[in-house]
Amino acid sequence: MSEENKKNEEDVELVMDTSKMTEEQISSMEVAESARETEWTKPSFASKLFMGDFDTSFLYPFPEQNEEDKKIGDEFLVKLEAVLKTVDPEEVDRTGELPEEYRAKLFEVGAFGMKVPKEYGGLGFSQVNYNRAAQLIASYDGATATLISAHQSIGVPNPLKMFGTPEQKKKYFPRLASKSISAFALTEPDVGSDPSKMTTVADPMDDGEHFLINGTKLWCTNGPIADLIVVMTQTKPKIVRGRERKQITAFIVEGTAPGVETLHRCDFMGLRGIYNGLMKFTDVKVHKSDILWAEGRGLALALRTLNAGRLTLPAASAGLAKQCLHMCTKWGKEREQWGRPIGEHEEGRQKLAYIASMTFALDAVTKSTSHWTDQGEADLRIEAAMAKLFSTEVAWKVIDTTMQFRGGRGYERADSLRTRGEDVFPVERAMRDCRINMILEGSSEIMKLFLAREAMDPHIQIAGPMMKASSSFGDKMGAVGKILGFYSTWLPKQYIAPLFVGGHSKMGPLARHYKFVEKASHKLARSFIYYMGMYQDKLEKKQMILGRLVDIGTELFVMSVTCAYAKSMMDKDKSNKEPYKLANHFCELARTRINGYFKDLSSNHDELSNKMADSVIAGNLEWLEEGIIKAGKAERAPLGSE
Ligand SMILES: Cc1cc2nc3c(=O)[nH]c(=O)nc-3n(C[C@H](O)[C@H](O)[C@H](O)COP(=O)(O)OP(=O)(O)OC[C@H]3O[C@@H](n4cnc5c(N)ncnc54)[C@H](O)[C@@H]3O)c2cc1C
Repeated sequence: MSEENKKNEEDVELVMDTSKMTEEQISSMEVAESARETEWTKPSFASKLFMGDFDTSFLYPFPEQNEEDKKIGDEFLVKLEAVLKTVDPEEVDRTGELPEEYRAKLFEVGAFGMKVPKEYGGLGFSQVNYNRAAQLIASYDGATATLISAHQSIGVPNPLKMFGTPEQKKKYFPRLASKSISAFALTEPDVGSDPSKMTTVADPMDDGEHFLINGTKLWCTNGPIADLIVVMTQTKPKIVRGRERKQITAFIVEGTAPGVETLHRCDFMGLRGIYNGLMKFTDVKVHKSDILWAEGRGLALALRTLNAGRLTLPAASAGLAKQCLHMCTKWGKEREQWGRPIGEHEEGRQKLAYIASMTFALDAVTKSTSHWTDQGEADLRIEAAMAKLFSTEVAWKVIDTTMQFRGGRGYERADSLRTRGEDVFPVERAMRDCRINMILEGSSEIMKLFLAREAMDPHIQIAGPMMKASSSFGDKMGAVGKILGFYSTWLPKQYIAPLFVGGHSKMGPLARHYKFVEKASHKLARSFIYYMGMYQDKLEKKQMILGRLVDIGTELFVMSVTCAYAKSMMDKDKSNKEPYKLANHFCELARTRINGYFKDLSSNHDELSNKMADSVIAGNLEWLEEGIIKAGKAERAPLGSE
C-alpha cells in the first residue's frame, strides 16, 4: 500500500457537515472515505473535464485493436458462439437453469479463463477481447453473460490479479480457468450501498493461523454453484483518532468448505437462469493466507474490483443495443400500418434514429474504455463509473423504445412468438434481464455520488478546510495561501478561455461539437466552484445539484469519445458519411440534454419535491393509498435472521 493511501486510511477527515449526523452516519461516511483511492498517479481525461480542461490528446488517435489481438479475439468468438448456440435462451429463461454440460463447454473453450493470465492456464485476454466476448454473450443470453461476468469481472480472478500474492495466484488461477466457478459476496440483508453496517465477521482463532467466518450474504451471484467465493467480512476494529473504525477484510473461501450453505436460491424479474443465493457462513474456517491484499483492506479491494468490473456492463449494454437495432431495423421495414412501414412514420423514424445513435455512442464508450484499460496509461476510475452509469441508463431507454416500436409483439414472450411462427425477438426477456444493471455494481445514484466526490476532489485538496464549518481558524488560514495560489489563475481562466475556443479543425464537421465540449467543460468547472462556494460542506446533501453536474460531465465524456470514434472511421473511409451522421445526431441530442441540466441547476423544483417527500415519509399521505389491496408483511422471519 502506498504511503498516501495508508495515510488516507488512518487520517481520513470528512469534508462535509457532520454536525447533524448520527454516530452511525459518520461511521458510514468514514468507512467509505477511508476505502477511497486517493492517489492519481496517472492522468484522467474525465477528471480534467470537470476542471475545465478538455484534453484531446487522450482522444487522438482513437485507439484500435492490433491485428494479432484481433485475430485472437476473432477465433475465440467463433468458438464461443458455437457453444452459446447449444442452449436456447428462452429455455434458460423458462427453466431457470444453465445446464452443467453447457457450463463445462464454456470452460472447455476458455470462457471462464478470459481474464486469467496465460501463465496460469487462462486466455490472458486484453480488455478489448474480453469485452467483445461480453458483448456477444449479452446479445444472446443475459444469464450466461452474468455467470461469466460475475465469475471474472467481480469474482475471484479480478481481485486476485490486482492484489493476490504469487502463492495465491499459483494456487487459484489454474482452477479458476479450468473448473472452478467463482463469486463475490459483499451484499447483506442490511448492507446494500452502504458497507459500514456489515455484520459478517471473521474472528481470529487462538492458533494465530486461522479465522472463523460467520454471517449471511445476500444476492451472491454464482454463490450456489461457486467453488470459490471472495467474502467480505468485518475483522477487529482499529482505533483511529480515539474512535473505533470498522475494518473490512476480504477472504477467498472454498464454496464447499464446511459451514457454507445456500439458504435460498433467489428468483428475479429477469436473469432467471442465474444462480444467485442467500448464503450462510457458519464457523467457516479459513487460513490467514487466504486473505486478499491485507487485513482491513477489504472494502478498498471491493471498490477497486467493482471499478474494474464496471467496464463489462458497457459492453453488455452495447450488445443489447445492437440487438435492438437489428430487431427494429427489420421490423421497421416489414411492419406496415396505415399504408406505410412503421419505420417510415415520423414517430417510428425518431425511434430508429435514437436507437442507432445511442448504439453508436455505446460502442464508442465501450471501445475507448476497453482500449484505455489495455494501454494502462490512464486512471479510468471516473470513466468506468461514467461508462457504467451512462450505458446502463441508455440500454434501458433503448429497450423501452424497442418495446414500444414492436407494439404488442414486444410484450409477447419469444417462445409464444416462435409458436405462432413469428420472428423470435426476445424484447420482453431482454427488458427484464437488463433492468438490474442500473442497480448492481453500484446503482446509478451511487455512481453519481462517487463521481461527484471525485470531481470535487481537486478542490477539496486545496480548499477543504475553508469549506468545512468546523475547521479551526488556523486550518482555514493555512488553506488561504493554497487557495490564492491556485484559484487566482485557474478561476479567471474558466471565464476567459471559453471566449477563445477555436481549433479542433482536424475534427472536420464534428469540430463544432468539440468546441461545445470545451466551452461546456469550463462552464461545468465554474458551476462546481459556484455550488461548492454556495453550499460548502452541505453540498454533499444537494444530490440533485450534484447529479446534474455529474450528468453534464458524463454527457461531455460520451460526446468526446463518440466524435473521436466517428472521426477514426471517417479517416479510414472518407466516402462513408454514416459515422458522422450518427455522432452528429448523438451530439445534438446530448447538447439539448446538457443545456437542460445547466438550466435546471438554477431553476428547478427540488425543494418542492423535498417537501412533498417529507409529507410522504411523515405518513401524511396514507389516505392516498386507500382503495387498494395493500402489499403485505411476510408471514415468517427473514431467512438467516435467527
Ligand atoms: C440480480 C442481482 C445480482 C446481484 N449480485 C451481487 C453479487 O454477486 N454480489 C454482491 O455482493 N451483491 C450482489 N447484488 C447486490 C447489488 O449489488 C445491490 O442490490 C446493490 O448494491 C444495491 O443495494 P440494495 O439493493 O440493498 O439497495 P440499497 O442500498 O438499499 O438502495 C436502495 C435505493 O436507494 C438508493 N440509495 C442508497 N443509498 C443512497 C444514498 N446515499 N443517496 C441516494 N440514494 C441512495 C439506491 O441507489 C437504490 O436506488 C446483486 C443484486 C441483484 C438483484
